[in-house]
Amino acid sequence: MNKTGLFELTIIVPIYNEEDNMLRLEKELAEYLSHASVGSCVLFVNDGSKDNSGKLVQEICKRNKAFFYLSFVKNAGLSAAIKAGIDAAQSPYVAYIDADLQTTPEDFELLLPYRQEYALVMGIRTGRKDSFGKKLSSKVANKFRRMMTHDGVEDTGCPLKIIDTAYAKRIPFFKGMHRFLPALIQLQQGKVKQIAVRHFERTAGKSKFNLRNRLVAPFVDCFAYRWMRKRYINYSIHSENISDQVNDR
Ligand code: UDP
Ligand code: MG
Repeated sequence: MNKTGLFELTIIVPIYNEEDNMLRLEKELAEYLSHASVGSCVLFVNDGSKDNSGKLVQEICKRNKAFFYLSFVKNAGLSAAIKAGIDAAQSPYVAYIDADLQTTPEDFELLLPYRQEYALVMGIRTGRKDSFGKKLSSKVANKFRRMMTHDGVEDTGCPLKIIDTAYAKRIPFFKGMHRFLPALIQLQQGKVKQIAVRHFERTAGKSKFNLRNRLVAPFVDCFAYRWMRKRYINYSIHSENISDQVNDR
């Protein structure tokens, strides 16, 4: 077992060139952990940052006891960072929040009450503080995705989510999967709950996504999702004799 197994919730934070956000991130996460309603730890995934983020991550993890990290050899993308966090997590629930603090960890408290009943509990960003262009592209992308996947989800890209770890570990992973998390949970017949959360401006660092990587690849991925839905493997085990046998030998 790794250290995340000692907590009920592992908060995965993907980080790519976010040096100017790191200290505020530390402060907000530490403050949240001090009063979170479930025992929670932080798992930073440094996605090959080229700035000082990697060093700051290590320093922050040294001075806060429930803060852990993984650091990639080189940049592998947001979906890879989330996957690495999910692969490593051994707590019953995993959460996801972006490093730019455009959503606040405090709002995990709004999602947590639903964690047992739903496989995925996620935010809907209210009063979005993004540029007109970004809000528009996000709206178009959300609408198209909803039409293609029938996931019924208002704001797939909201960077505030809590997932039952067993479901999270079964998600089929591919580049861009972070935009399809609700639909990929529904593939497993998992239920999704959406809750309104607050949204803030990005006060430091830069957005890593532009119109091209926000619209073109995700458009194509919608077709891949539909293929996957048709061919997805779901099975239920009727009986087995592999559990709880180890100590009986
Ligand atoms: N990120 C990452 N790897 C990447 C690109 C982004 O880990 O290759 C992280 C980034 O540091 C942030 C989150 O993913 O924590 C979302 O990125 P960003 O805020 O730039 O996206 P936006 O909110 O503008 O869509
Ligand atoms: Mg952001």
